[in-house]
Amino acid sequence: MKILLVEDSATLRHAMSSYIRAFGHDPLIASSGEEALQIVDKTPVDMIIMDVEMPGLDGFETTRLIREWLGDHWIPIIFVTGKSEDEDLEHGINAGGDDYLIKPVSQVILKAKIQAMERITNMRDQLNQLNQDLKNLSQIDGLTQLYNRRTFEEKAHEYWRLATRSKEPLAILLLDIDHFKLFNDYYGHPAGDECIKLVSSALQKCLNRPSDLVARYGGEEFIVMLPNTPQDGAYHVAEHIRKTVEKLNLKHRASTSSDRVTVSIGGSVVNFTTGSSLQQQISLADKALYESKQCGRNRSTVKLYNPHNTVLVVDDDEISIDIISETLRGHSTVVSTRSGEECLNMAKELKPDVIILDVYLPGVNGYAVCQSLRDDPSTAMIPVILISVCDKEELTRFGKKVKANACLQKPLEHHRLIAKVNQFIT
Ligand code: GH3
Ligand code: MG
Ligand code: MG
Ligand code: MG
Repeated sequence: MKILLVEDSATLRHAMSSYIRAFGHDPLIASSGEEALQIVDKTPVDMIIMDVEMPGLDGFETTRLIREWLGDHWIPIIFVTGKSEDEDLEHGINAGGDDYLIKPVSQVILKAKIQAMERITNMRDQLNQLNQDLKNLSQIDGLTQLYNRRTFEEKAHEYWRLATRSKEPLAILLLDIDHFKLFNDYYGHPAGDECIKLVSSALQKCLNRPSDLVARYGGEEFIVMLPNTPQDGAYHVAEHIRKTVEKLNLKHRASTSSDRVTVSIGGSVVNFTTGSSLQQQISLADKALYESKQCGRNRSTVKLYNPHNTVLVVDDDEISIDIISETLRGHSTVVSTRSGEECLNMAKELKPDVIILDVYLPGVNGYAVCQSLRDDPSTAMIPVILISVCDKEELTRFGKKVKANACLQKPLEHHRLIAKVNQFIT
């Protein structure tokens, strides 16, 4: 052990450090409290033997500061002092000391005390290790060493929040080994376990980004979450995994669909997590997996998850409608009309989540349409975003009058439009 000896008397320093060395430990020497703090700051030590009466910082103060500095990391500190009153001992223990020896200290006593403290230190190390092992065990699947389902769910929610913030697409893949019950029946359970392990390591090798999340989801099922991955990327990864497993060439004589072990994969991709849910996305991946199984197994199906938001766009300009529809593709279902009168009927019937309303329309203009929406109790609560080429100040002023929820100037910017729509979708 590295034992720090803090002692202002040169004679005692010399004597005690030679004892420590004789006991088979490695002494570090400080002649003051200040020097001790510097050493602790730079070098990890396993134990401290501390004089109490020293010029400058005394042993109690130094101990308090060291305990503060080390926080949760406990190391034994033994005081060695000439102060022999009961209150002195009490004071020392309160300052964070673990034992209190009165000078002169015999070599035998010092050795025994160091030994006792070493035993406690070892127990602490074992306990820390056990705690770490327990934590790992509760997070990791024993057979494959992948995360288990519970850990996946914890981490996936974190990823989901990140994707909401970054507005990046998020992909989920579910993998299931084909005819695995038949494999088990034919080759036996231990061979089945071995097969799961081989598929799991093949799967891991196919995922290159450190942010990709993979877990064993159930018996012979795995789940993968791919942040910032659009539909074509997700399909590419799925096919790569599927082919890699196929190329393992693990014989499966009992399979009715192939001569070797294969996997079916189902995926779902969400372009904007706002307005959608992780559970729904996983269910959609599960549906896609079912399709892969139905279509003969050993294949990948990746679906785009369209959240069920409806946005009603009211604009007489065809190009403008196209731009908005394209911007919101994969985010919301867009319905459109060129007429203000029709907007009022559609709003009542469809109850859209948001209405994007152009100001300049043939016949009734956008402000008047907005006012009518507000006046009808069945549409009064639908958020309205007014859009126009007109001056921003004018747009805002009139928009306020008719209680529009937001105003955007044309030409519309992709990101601002999505951000505005997201503001009103819960
Ligand atoms: P499909 O192609 O439709 O997926 O058919 P399948 O037989 O793979 O599907 P099913 O869900 O009917 O059976 C899965 C089998 O996986 C059931 C169980 O015996 C086996 N299994 C689940 N977990 C383990 C495991 O940890 N080790 C082993 N050896 N087998 C397992
Ligand atoms: Mg002293
Ligand atoms: Mg299964
Ligand atoms: Mg299966």
